Amino acid sequence: MLQSKSFVRKTKQGKVLKVVREHYLRDDIYCGASICKVCDTKVARLSSSASTILVLDTNVVLNQIDLLENPAIDDVVVLSVVLDEVKNKNLSVYNRLRALCSNTLRKFFVFSNEHHKDTYVKAMVGESPNDRNDRAIRVATNWYQHHLGGGTRVLLITNDKENKRKATDEGIFAETVETYVKSLGQPNLLDLVVHPTSEDVSMEDVEDLRPSKRKVIYIEHKPMSEITAGLHRGIYHQGKLRVNRYNPFEAYVGSESIGDEIIIQGRGNMNRAFDGDVVAVELLPKEQWHEGKSLSIAEDGLLLKEIYGDIKIQFCVLDSSSHTKGCMSMRG
Ligand SMILES: [Zn+2]
Repeated sequence: MLQSKSFVRKTKQGKVLKVVREHYLRDDIYCGASICKVCDTKVARLSSSASTILVLDTNVVLNQIDLLENPAIDDVVVLSVVLDEVKNKNLSVYNRLRALCSNTLRKFFVFSNEHHKDTYVKAMVGESPNDRNDRAIRVATNWYQHHLGGGTRVLLITNDKENKRKATDEGIFAETVETYVKSLGQPNLLDLVVHPTSEDVSMEDVEDLRPSKRKVIYIEHKPMSEITAGLHRGIYHQGKLRVNRYNPFEAYVGSESIGDEIIIQGRGNMNRAFDGDVVAVELLPKEQWHEGKSLSIAEDGLLLKEIYGDIKIQFCVLDSSSHTKGCMSMRG
């Protein structure tokens, strides 16, 4: 089966070229499970006694490689889409993952989901590459579950809140790294788990039993009435928080009242808010804005552009249904 991707490109001379890339899809790619009745099991790497087979998302590989190298984690499917993303983002982690896949003592199997006719997914109109890849991971997980049947649980491991929600909606077993590791009943493994970033599942979802790790203490939420009054008086600005995908320590709040984006730096300042949450923020005094970044104020003094720095925030997290999750006051 042949899929072709085409796009138009303009040359330096101004000519418009149509570029067609051919992508062959196959139906002879094996699943790697020894118990499979359909595939050739000579190349199988996943153990016949495995009751659970894990599929990892890219961030789990990037963030949890120390954990993955522990022999307690085995019977893992490494999707080619994940392998490619890891290669592009961190070569050292990529090499460690490849070493796991080629280690005969371990049970890591590389599955070419991008070349399998049942698991290849085409980007939808308006879909970002990240969303497309997350979807490809879910499609492959679902394929494994149906391919292997009910005797084996195929479990997607993801700390991405949105991906996990979509997986569950689609009937896929999905767990966070922490939940899965806890289910193994080996408390020492928890020390290898790297904690989620703000765009991932919340710390509250992940009850951490290790006293040494209970260091992040968030400042108390403010009452909703106070936040509402603050918004009316123009002290607080409301908008949707968007976490920088490549830097979890930076986020933006597009504010209508300011007419531009407010930049929030540091996870402390984002305090328990997720990407997509509606938040209320209070600006730091102007003299505390970081210099060196453009800062423009219109003549009437109202339009602020590109505010950098640790912003003093009275932080109110309203979720999508507008119920308050609570508000908090933050230090700059
Ligand atoms: Zn199979």
